[in-house]
Amino acid sequence: MYHFGDNYVSIGFVVHLNYKNPWISPFDEFQRFKTHPSIRGYLEGGKRIAYGARAITEGGSQSLPQLYFPGGVLLGCSAGMVNVPRIKGSHNAVKSGVLAAEAAFEAISAGRGGDELVSYETAYQTSSIAKELWNVRNFKPLWSKFGTIPGLVLGGLDATIATLLGGWSPWGTLKHGKSDSASTGLAKDHKQIAYPKPDGVLSFDKLSSVFLSATNHDENQPAHLKLTDPSIPISVNLPKYGEPARLFCPAGVYEVLYDEQGENPKFQINFQNCVHCKTCDIKDPSQNINWTTPQGGDGPNYPNM
Ligand code: SF4
Repeated sequence: MYHFGDNYVSIGFVVHLNYKNPWISPFDEFQRFKTHPSIRGYLEGGKRIAYGARAITEGGSQSLPQLYFPGGVLLGCSAGMVNVPRIKGSHNAVKSGVLAAEAAFEAISAGRGGDELVSYETAYQTSSIAKELWNVRNFKPLWSKFGTIPGLVLGGLDATIATLLGGWSPWGTLKHGKSDSASTGLAKDHKQIAYPKPDGVLSFDKLSSVFLSATNHDENQPAHLKLTDPSIPISVNLPKYGEPARLFCPAGVYEVLYDEQGENPKFQINFQNCVHCKTCDIKDPSQNINWTTPQGGDGPNYPNM
């Protein structure tokens, strides 16, 4: 929760996408969080003015891809430069922008263009960002493996040792476990969650929230949410996982519709609601959904975020 100018508050809630219970709805967890006695006092009497959602890349050092490609580079969160224990990445995004700009300036000054800015990645490797991410590299693997309390204690200990000893850790460099999609358990093995109905004061429904994201898509846009196999949502995901796309999408894009007899389920994609958080691409247990860049800059238009 952050101050956000006079009498404004900006509040976020992180749900780690390697959760097992397919009945979890990150959106509804957030609504519930806002009603917590420690939080509600800040919100009561206020007015909801904006809404958005985003997947955070939490893999850190071990998950960083190559940072350059012909004609472009990956910066900040698009590369995965968030410091997970600090839940902070804007400083690294700014710094990576500076490094990339310096590399681009050098290339343009030498008459180059449209090629690969290898020197950006070289500069990254000796930068404060690389050092900072290296010291906390085991935080997320330990957290995922041991759960919140023991994981945070071990992760904190590891990060402290690494910071004091120039990056050395008794664990070396831990790998991440299963992918977020593969971590999803079977519906039959988990309890369904009955989330409270939105009260319209502190908690709200998805559709009125999405309205505040001012998301917009051309009705005739080429589909930007693509299914590799259109039959999988109903033939595999529904019986095995309860089709969790209905729940993990924070914008109500995916629905399973039934006929009047409550039979013949159909999978519907309300693409116009999409806020481009990319969760579906990451969490779909069958890895059947591909989020692609929408045409013409369509998508959310966050006025204050
Ligand atoms: S469809 Fe996918 S990318 Fe769009 S809001 Fe839902 S989960 Fe996010």
